Amino acid sequence: MTDITRCPICLTDLTENAIVLQHKDATRYKCDVCGQFDVSHFTLIDSRFDSLKPLIRAWIRRQNKLGIPHPHVGANIEGASIDWFEDLKRMNFPKTVNEKINALLEAYADIIKDDYNKIIKVNQYPNLIAEIVGKNLEDIIGLNQLLADLGYIWSVPGHPNVHIRMTAKGWLH
Ligand SMILES: [Zn+2]
Repeated sequence: MTDITRCPICLTDLTENAIVLQHKDATRYKCDVCGQFDVSHFTLIDSRFDSLKPLIRAWIRRQNKLGIPHPHVGANIEGASIDWFEDLKRMNFPKTVNEKINALLEAYADIIKDDYNKIIKVNQYPNLIAEIVGKNLEDIIGLNQLLADLGYIWSVPGHPNVHIRMTAKGWLH
């Protein structure tokens, strides 16, 4: 039985229950951390599903950003992929610390738009975890420490690496 109250990827409680799509043998989820996606029961029981969760979340985020509201996790598109999980592993997602730092700075720039003094409270943007292919918020805070050391961000006193602002150096990076 599919649990429609929890996200199968990050296991947090959903604000809206998932919808079972009978005609697609899939369930449609909307998760604040992972994004919007459909996933079939067969994918959920694939042993690789658990180990590839950070990549899956990054893939969903990318699809949602491209304007695909309900990408189908694990679905083999006809003529394209034979093995979705193998394809996923070959896709170009941030892997190194350097790539993750760049992805995080880009995500911050997206949030800020043209409000250059905006303080970003990172725990209000759970989607950042997907951007850096991280496991949880601790990964963001860890990268923020690096960004602060490099002078790319400034932390609000009392909230080190959690409430941050981009510096001129961060913008120029
Ligand atoms: Zn989730």
